Parts: sequence; C-alpha cells; structure tokens
Amino acid sequence: MTGLYIHIPFCASRCIYCGFYSTTLSQLKQKYTDAICREMELRKQNIDKRPIEISTIYFGGGTPSQLSKEQLQQIFSSINSIWNCNGSIIRKNCEITFECNPDDITEDFANFIAYLGVNRVSMGAQTFDPARLKFLHRRHNANEVKLAVDRLKSAGFDNISIDLMFGFPGETLTEWEEDIKTAVSLEPKHISAYSLMYEEGTPLYRMLEKGEIEEIDEETSLAMYKKLIDLLTQAGYEHYEISNFARPGFRSQHNSSYWNAIPYIGIGAAAHSYSKDYRSWNVDNIHQYIQSIHDNKLPSESEYLDATTRYNDLITTALRTREGINLTKLKDEYGEELFLYLTQEAQKYINLHEMKIEDNKLSLTRKGLYISDSIMSDLIFISNIK
Ligand code: SF4
Repeated sequence: MTGLYIHIPFCASRCIYCGFYSTTLSQLKQKYTDAICREMELRKQNIDKRPIEISTIYFGGGTPSQLSKEQLQQIFSSINSIWNCNGSIIRKNCEITFECNPDDITEDFANFIAYLGVNRVSMGAQTFDPARLKFLHRRHNANEVKLAVDRLKSAGFDNISIDLMFGFPGETLTEWEEDIKTAVSLEPKHISAYSLMYEEGTPLYRMLEKGEIEEIDEETSLAMYKKLIDLLTQAGYEHYEISNFARPGFRSQHNSSYWNAIPYIGIGAAAHSYSKDYRSWNVDNIHQYIQSIHDNKLPSESEYLDATTRYNDLITTALRTREGINLTKLKDEYGEELFLYLTQEAQKYINLHEMKIEDNKLSLTRKGLYISDSIMSDLIFISNIK
C-alpha cells in the first residue's frame, strides 16, 4: 500500500495564518501542471521501479480547485497511465481526496471532479462567523460553505470533510459552540479542527508581535477543545485522532497512512515523501521546482531514518491516534530495550490515567489528550538506539 500526494500550491489570495507552501503566481499553472506530470514519470523511472499499489490519492494545497478542468484532466490521465501499468496498480476502491475552497465549488465543478473519480472532498470552512472569516482573509463567506456542501451532495459526494478553527483572539466559548453546531448541521462525514496557530513568518504572527492582537488564554483554548470533543462525540462522530473526527467508516484513509507509517509519494513543490527507511522533500520554490523537472532532475533532498528517528516519529504520529502504539509491533521492530524504555517511561502517565494499555496498545486517554504535546516530548528518545 502506498499513498500518493499531489501538491497544488496555487491560491487566489493568501490567508493571514497560512504556513503552507503556496503561491499566487497563477500564470505558472500550466507549466506547473506539466511539471508534476513529468515528476511522476521521473519518479516511476528513477526511484519507484518496484510495482506498487496506490491505495489513496490526495490533492492538497494551496488550493487544488484553482486548476482548470483541462489541467485536472491532464493530471488524472497522467496518474492513470503512470501508476496503472507495469505491475503497479491503483486500488479499485482507492480513496481520492480533493481539497477545495468553498467558493470554487460551482455545480459544474462538483460534477466534474466526480466524473474524474474524486470520491472525497475536504473543505476549509474554518468558521461560519463573517468577522472571523474576514480576519483570516478567507475569500469565502459562511453561506458559500453551505451552498458548496449542497452542490457536492447533488453531484453524488457522500464523503465530505470540513475543517474548522478555534481560539481566535477574543473568541468566546459560546461562539465556538455555534461554529461546531453549524458544521454538524451540514452533516459532513468528517470534521477536522485545529486551534489557530501563530506561525513565524505569517502576517498573523507579525500582528501578535506588534501587539495588535492577543492570543487566547490556555484555559479558554482547553475549554474549547473539550467542547469540541463533547459536541462531536454526542453527535455520533468517532474521535479517532487528536484533531480528527469521523462518522463510522469515514476516517481519512490517506491521513491515517501518515499516522500509521504507510509509505507515500509526494509530488509537486514542497511535497514530502516517505518510505520505511527514508523521507524526502521537494524544493519549496515553484520556479526552482519547474526548472529542475524541466532539466529531468528530481528537485528533492532525502534523509535516512535511523532507529532513533523512526521511534521518535512513531511517538509523534501513532500516539495521535485512538489506537495508539502497537507494543507487539514495537518490540518486533525495535527490540526489547526500546520496548522496555517506552513502557517504563509511560508508566507514570498510566498511573495518572493519562495513558492506557489495551489489547497491547499504548494510547492517550482523554485526560492525556489535553497534555499530548508534553507527553510526546517526554517519551521522545534522545540518544542513539543501537
Ligand atoms: S487557501 Fe489554504 S493554502 Fe491558500 S493561503 Fe489560505 S490557508 Fe493557505
């Protein structure tokens, strides 16, 4: 099983909090489309010669819905011709996710991506409050999210995911509750929710530094997270990862592969790839990316993942999930010494009911979720594992 991630970095405008690699250079869309199709060929020829089974495909960004129909058709044709031959296959029920901005979803566009084979749509709603949307510099309004959901459902999409954000400066718990309820009323199969992050280099970060806005206090932020878990679990969503909730059977398969150490191939500027022993990342500059592919060179750097790094990755990914870390697998892959290290270190959290072991899997309890960052950094292994 392998995931395929395609990065489409174009955005019509930039949101003030965004730390993803994206660009407003829309004149480069066709050159970029040609380059990602070529990168898939190069990867198939140079690196991934073994036959593989593509189990999930994810179009992320940036804003994939900013590409034209012709450009999307070109990418889908390339995916099919490159990964569906010479022994490699695209799994029959492959999950194909497409990230969209609500205001890009016309009836025609929804029908078109359904025709291409997309079977899951992920939309960044963030909030339904006009003032907060304006603050973020989002292009859409709250009504457009509802319209987009209707149009996607009419086009046959059952698997729709909505992204929410909480912890805006000055936001109250009641306002956050309203956003959650509005999201639930749209009946998406999946909801992801993140607290507003102040990433260095973003306009939002500069506003904070200048004292123009104030970060929400920790107590309110925690109360908002608790409210999120309560309301969504009461509404029938399974809390399967720290920030992700799904109706039964609708977990994100692609994102689950990141948390379960399933290999993935990342295509496009700034895209990351992972195979059991290596991870690599493409240059995060669209000009350099296009030029390098034009010269038939993969624009990526890679690093070998030693045992320490792989163990630490496991702590920061698998522990995010409801199932947690499979201790039998850990013992088999890393040996007795590391197994003992983790179980001994985790014991203090187990005593405090912040972690638990069930069916030989170590996971965070609800109480542990509230301090997940500090538990993970404590369980990280510092020195080299022999
Ligand atoms: S639309 Fe998404 S990727 Fe583009 S600037 Fe906004 S948050 Fe970033």
